[in-house]
Amino acid sequence: MTSLQGLVSLVSLVSLMDVIYQQLKQFGRVKTNEPLFKHTTFKIGGSARFLVIVEDREKTISLLNFLLAEGINYFILGGGSNLLFSDEDFDGVVVKIKNQKSKIINNEIETEAGAQLGEVLILTLKHNLTGMEWAAGVPGTIGGAVRGNAGAFGSDMASNVDRVEVWRDGEAIILSKEECDFGYRSSGLKKGGSVILRVWFKFPAGDKKEIMTKVQKNLQARQGKFPPFPSAGCFFKNIKLDKWPGKKEDLPPIFLERGTVPAGWLVEQAGVGGLTVGGAKVDASHCNFVINVDKATQSDVLQLVEIVREKVYNKFGVELEQEVEIIK
Ligand SMILES: Cc1cc2nc3c(=O)[nH]c(=O)nc-3n(C[C@H](O)[C@H](O)[C@H](O)COP(=O)(O)OP(=O)(O)OC[C@H]3O[C@@H](n4cnc5c(N)ncnc54)[C@H](O)[C@@H]3O)c2cc1C
Repeated sequence: MTSLQGLVSLVSLVSLMDVIYQQLKQFGRVKTNEPLFKHTTFKIGGSARFLVIVEDREKTISLLNFLLAEGINYFILGGGSNLLFSDEDFDGVVVKIKNQKSKIINNEIETEAGAQLGEVLILTLKHNLTGMEWAAGVPGTIGGAVRGNAGAFGSDMASNVDRVEVWRDGEAIILSKEECDFGYRSSGLKKGGSVILRVWFKFPAGDKKEIMTKVQKNLQARQGKFPPFPSAGCFFKNIKLDKWPGKKEDLPPIFLERGTVPAGWLVEQAGVGGLTVGGAKVDASHCNFVINVDKATQSDVLQLVEIVREKVYNKFGVELEQEVEIIK
């Protein structure tokens, strides 16, 4: 290619990017070459060519239809609290979902996907509804939480979801709870490019005092537990007891009672608590947390978790599955 041809293609690329930028502006606030580490709790990630912050459900649908029609690569971002972005730049559009209207009719809460888990918890508290107490202190949006069926203290999102509106292949459709196919930290919404738009929850009425006591107990259980470094929460999924390959009698009785073997315990027993690769470290006191102690990269984290997986497999014969979404 001659230098003139090179210049011509550079100029056309710049003007194409400008055209896309102008079009994206109809849907929300647009940032260009936006560092993604700023949008995740792990504080890791390259830049996105474009990041669009959408605060309106209709505009979210229009933006998704536009991206689909134009064949533009995109990624859906909620609160960024369960993500490990690539160190490479993302040559596409990151759609940051911030539409967050919520309302309550009788005991049914309707909320948009960008609402924070904490906001929905507060709404249940105001109306003496029980079922969201587990979410006290958990970051992230309803969209991210429903997709991954977030949960804690023996409960999860799926326990109170009634139906979910998703955008899929250019259409907004409503799925029943059964169609969402919820499982432990998983759902069928992970497949088929579903973007969660709205969620309806049904909560039973509860006793105000009991609800508040539960919330306080859960907050206390978390206090001091989270390391004071960036992370994406628990890195690995716990192992269901029916998947445990060894003798169940050898496990601490509390695991048998709860029906799961905590991943953090496995990591600790494998002797890798405190292990470091580059800027990434397995937290020594909460071994299911991988923390970013010093400008960690995705590559540091992936190398570290590979060692952890291998050590756990060698000792217990179980494969740890990650809970954190890894974007390569
Ligand atoms: C300190 C800390 C503590 C935590 N404690 C817990 C806990 O107790 N229990 C627990 O389950 N989790 C926990 N987490 C993890 C995290 O908070 C939850 O998984 C949360 O629900 C993720 O939501 P998000 O909006 O941040 O999702 P993101 O991290 O933004 O996204 C996660 C995935 O969901 C997708 N996504 C996001 N929004 C949508 C949408 N609207 N439609 C379709 N896909 C979407 C993204 O593309 C991505 O694949 C913790 C995290 C931290 C940092």
